[in-house]
Amino acid sequence: MSHRMQTKYVVVLGSLLSGLGKGIVTSSVAKLLTMHNYNVMPLKFDGYLNYDCGTMNPFRHGEVFVLEDGGEVDMDFGTYERFLNKNVNKSFSLTGGKLFTEIIARERKGDFLGADVQIIPHLTDYIIERITSLAEKEKLDVLVIEVGGTVGDIENSYFVEAMRQLSVKNKVAFVDVTYVPELETVGEQKTKPTQLALRSLRQEGVQPDFIICRSTRALDEKARRKIALFSNLQPDRVLDDHDTKNIYELPDILLKQGFDKMIIDELGLELKPMDEKKLAEWRSCFDGRGEKKPLTIGVVGKYVNLHDSYASVTQALHHAALHSNADLRIKWLESEAFENAALGSELAMEQLKDCDGILVPGGFGARGTEGMIKAIEYARVNKVPYLGLCLGMQLMVIEHARNMANIKDASSSEFTDSGSSVIDLMDEQKGVKEKGGSMRLGAWEAKIKPGTVAHAAYGAEQISERHRHRYEFNNLYRQKLEDAGLVISATTTDGKLVEIVEWKGQFGVGTQAHPEFKSRVEKPSPLFLAFVRSALAYGKGEGAGEEIRSYNLLAGK
Ligand code: GLN
Repeated sequence: MSHRMQTKYVVVLGSLLSGLGKGIVTSSVAKLLTMHNYNVMPLKFDGYLNYDCGTMNPFRHGEVFVLEDGGEVDMDFGTYERFLNKNVNKSFSLTGGKLFTEIIARERKGDFLGADVQIIPHLTDYIIERITSLAEKEKLDVLVIEVGGTVGDIENSYFVEAMRQLSVKNKVAFVDVTYVPELETVGEQKTKPTQLALRSLRQEGVQPDFIICRSTRALDEKARRKIALFSNLQPDRVLDDHDTKNIYELPDILLKQGFDKMIIDELGLELKPMDEKKLAEWRSCFDGRGEKKPLTIGVVGKYVNLHDSYASVTQALHHAALHSNADLRIKWLESEAFENAALGSELAMEQLKDCDGILVPGGFGARGTEGMIKAIEYARVNKVPYLGLCLGMQLMVIEHARNMANIKDASSSEFTDSGSSVIDLMDEQKGVKEKGGSMRLGAWEAKIKPGTVAHAAYGAEQISERHRHRYEFNNLYRQKLEDAGLVISATTTDGKLVEIVEWKGQFGVGTQAHPEFKSRVEKPSPLFLAFVRSALAYGKGEGAGEEIRSYNLLAGK
């Protein structure tokens, strides 16, 4: 019987500022270890007191990512899953809110009878116990832990302390992500901010084993040596992570610097050779075959000014473009601008003219929805390939009801009580008062009607996609809308809820789910792939609208 070694830990933290891409570093470290055939998972800690991300505004916090099990988590989980091509469950997401809820529940149960419950040691012990038992349960070789926020923040100080304590009894490699600015006037990379940040890290009792330097240009030797000197590290442990066009290049950038071998050595793992097949598969996603065809996709949404709000949509489009040899340009279009002349609606409509495809993503509330409906009408009338995601599907139904089924006041009960609610609250939702974790969430199975565009795209009759919404297609209008030409191409397996609708004779698909959450570099979402390929065909003026299945299907692979 083979004996599994105790789990080792990598802790990724930032000591200087946030927003440096710790999630990409965490994913790249995990990816490299996976390529060496270790069993690895990522875990993230976020210091805020929300229980999860479900109640956060995407405009402030970025996208809320949804897991298979319905967990509403930080957008970094999207990065993890896309890099690792693996589902992560919600027990790998720890927040301040979750930890405090659990520790107080323990106190109420009487687990600490007689003690005054403190951050150290009770909460820190609890964090260590939770992490180590999860790692053992999942039989992990390595757990890569990303600490959200910046070292020195009050919000994550107890967590950093728990990681320091974890390293006393377990093998832990600390990876610090820092920023090396370059002053244009001097033309030199400056290391002082990193030196100061290292000081605050040491104050917390943490000595990094690796320092990853974000910079605009490749890290120069002088800066590398200086940082090494101040951090008690060999220069090869100070690594370059400069800006690249493609975030998925980071594993390769680290690999070229020998990082994988160094961290395996640091963790005391037995050295397994690089799995060349896995590495080649990863690299093959980026190898352009021949010249790339230009592709413009217009995304009409209300949170477009913060692109992070649509991180998974952006990535899903990129994955589909990579696998279709397309040179993708995304045009972000603010939906309110389509609504009236004073806001420049004519100019906005003009913006749609060079789009090879139009996409309306998910969203909440009425703001901007009339503008989205206008963009959808434009796509239908001009036979521009259209993809609607969740809200984008609901608005596609409303547009059809108003303009094709003559239900002029068609709307959603999310926006108004006075119209014909072709989109309505489901019965199970009517009594729900709590906002946290109470939507239709996570993976749901759907059955697809053969002969539809959706069926061609998925190449399957039974599919599963992730959901996050309260409202649904109102069944009272099913017949009327079908009579008016809307195709209902998929429902839940019991037939009760509409999952996918489409237009006849042209590529227009709306899905109640969020297929973007399951799109990966190595395995793009079938629906995005079909959309992108239709858009490419449309862009070349080839059979726009008629040849609805002209795209080359990769589905089922
Ligand atoms: N606001 C809509 C609903 O709750 C759509 C949600 C979404 O797009 N994720 O049903």
